[in-house]
Amino acid sequence: MHIKNDRTYEQALASLTLSERLTAVGFVVSIIGAILGIMIINRSLVSSMDQLAAGATSVAVGDRDHQIEIQIPRELTSVADAFNLMTKRICEQEDALEHLARTDGLTGLYNRREFDRILAEELQRAERYGRPVSLIIGDIDHFKNFNDTYGHQAGDEALRAIAHTLTENLRDTDKACRFGGEEFVVVLPECAAETARQVAERTRLAVEASVLHLDGEQTAKLTISLGVATSPDNGETPKILFKSADSALYKSKEHGRNRVMSAV
Ligand code: GH3
Ligand code: MG
Ligand code: MG
Repeated sequence: MHIKNDRTYEQALASLTLSERLTAVGFVVSIIGAILGIMIINRSLVSSMDQLAAGATSVAVGDRDHQIEIQIPRELTSVADAFNLMTKRICEQEDALEHLARTDGLTGLYNRREFDRILAEELQRAERYGRPVSLIIGDIDHFKNFNDTYGHQAGDEALRAIAHTLTENLRDTDKACRFGGEEFVVVLPECAAETARQVAERTRLAVEASVLHLDGEQTAKLTISLGVATSPDNGETPKILFKSADSALYKSKEHGRNRVMSAV
């Protein structure tokens, strides 16, 4: 009887030791699992934070299109989404500002500053490749009279309409700009003198043919005088080419307006 009790005691002791061992192993496995989990989370957190920091630095040094891709953790994904939205907005606003800085508010054509840049760039390109560039200057005839007769607002409408007529008669590569007041300039890359003269004549005819619809039933008509010059023959620098086209325009005015004259 005593012996039997001893065996039962030993068996109980053995099973207790096994369960203790299992508990100990389970505990160690949980600790290792927890440590590994913390390490993985920590690693992805650091990587996500690094991405955010790198993104902010990129935008700061001018890479305005920079986008961040973060999957975890959820909180940083929201920060990344906000960051991406912010850079997108900055890009849109900068593009809008750039557009405003380059265009004329009334007509939507390029402005004087953009004209200076375009002409210089096209002349440099033309010199490099040995190609012609033409320049047309147009000035509306007796526009002061028009304003005096129909009012300044009608004058503004007329400027818009003529700007539209001008662009309708150009190739996509030609750049129409409002030089100032009632004066327009067109830069025609890869365009020889005779073709430029034909473009100017087509524009003149289109302006002459168009009827301006003013307030109420009133209609009016306008004409335009144009001067044409081509590089390299009439000048290889912006200043000289412009002067040649302007002298040709002056001759158009002198010879009775509503005509095209080419530089010689
Ligand atoms: P010409 O045939 O010799 O070119 O005569 P012109 O009357 O067209 O030339 P002038 O230089 O004497 O007058 C230009 C007029 O253009 C005067 C000005 O009131 C008008 N003008 C300039 N800019 C604008 C504008 O933005 N809107 C309006 N409505 N008129 C303008
Ligand atoms: Mg003028
Ligand atoms: Mg004028």
